Amino acid sequence: MILTQCAVCATELGLSLGKKCGRCSTRYCGAACQVHHWKEGGHDQLCKKIKKAGGAEQYNANTKYAEAVTVAAKACADDTKGQTCYICTEAVHRHTGEGLVRGCACHTTEGFVHVSCLAEQAKILMEETVENNLGAKAFNARWDRWFTCGLCEQQHHGVVRCALGWACWKTYVGRPETDDSRRSAMTQLGNGLDAVNHYEDALSVREAELSMERRVGDSEEAILLTLGNLANSYRRLGRTTEAANIYRDVYSGRLKLLGEEHRETLGAAGNYATSLIDVHRYAEAKHLMRKSIPVARRVLGESNTLTLAMRRNYAQTLCTDPSATLDDLREAVTTLEDVGRIARRVFGGAHPLTVGFEQALRYGARVALRARESPPAGDA
Ligand SMILES: [Zn+2]
Ligand SMILES: [Zn+2]
Ligand SMILES: [Zn+2]
Ligand SMILES: [Zn+2]
Repeated sequence: MILTQCAVCATELGLSLGKKCGRCSTRYCGAACQVHHWKEGGHDQLCKKIKKAGGAEQYNANTKYAEAVTVAAKACADDTKGQTCYICTEAVHRHTGEGLVRGCACHTTEGFVHVSCLAEQAKILMEETVENNLGAKAFNARWDRWFTCGLCEQQHHGVVRCALGWACWKTYVGRPETDDSRRSAMTQLGNGLDAVNHYEDALSVREAELSMERRVGDSEEAILLTLGNLANSYRRLGRTTEAANIYRDVYSGRLKLLGEEHRETLGAAGNYATSLIDVHRYAEAKHLMRKSIPVARRVLGESNTLTLAMRRNYAQTLCTDPSATLDDLREAVTTLEDVGRIARRVFGGAHPLTVGFEQALRYGARVALRARESPPAGDA
């Protein structure tokens, strides 16, 4: 469940505290709030409606979904003016009345669609996968349709991603907790909320997901994935110490599970190192990067994006570290020149990665120059 607060006073109830309405499962901190909600909060009117919709969680999912679709269609109104849905061929959805959206990488004249048409398509695809017993691999591949455009094969972003997250959650929230679709839907909802920068909401979804996965005894792999998402939420909210602690657990979990040469382990090392910089633990960050970058260069290759990003981060750490020596700064500039060169060769000069590396290089060179010009600390 993701409704973890009292419906009246918003007291945090976690997953077990408080009372529930016996009919519709709306949650309260106690009898006082429940009585208040019934008498003055309009629950006497709504209770039946919520129960009929399938209970408080389902009702909330439906309501949030409808809101998110409205927001998405409104945000996309200019872009989609005069167009029709590539699935149902209408401009305005025949049953829901919703407008068109677009939030992928489709060519300027393509990709106009209704959120509910996308959701319906994904739902049917998943039903077929399960009915025909196509197995976990097909399930995972097809699940992508919940967040990837079927035309351009790129992930949906922004308001469209958010609306699809709620669509997905609304579709599977009624399933048992052990159901794969329900768990994956929770991940999608969190990703959708991230896509519109609703980080607090995303955090509470990740927390609920994690405790559910632990409760049902989910695989270590699944739990590490959720922990990684949880750490991202903390980091986005500026809760850097909490983030660093979780990134550390994810890194050591990956190391134990997959070994130091696995891509996931290297990615986790990169995230942990970045989070150590956030909390100014430069020495540990440098130590970890010096250990994992050679592995990334060897295993993933020199032109791999993760290798390049890790090297750039290492160079930036050298530049940011207040105790950096002139040699450190020289190493940083050399590293940034090298990753910039590789990125330009592999991705071209206009690619965002290349542009980012070149910005980092300019910054690094400035820091190094300043260090050379000013007398060393202590001599002044
Ligand atoms: Zn309350
Ligand atoms: Zn009720
Ligand atoms: Zn449509
Ligand atoms: Zn597209």
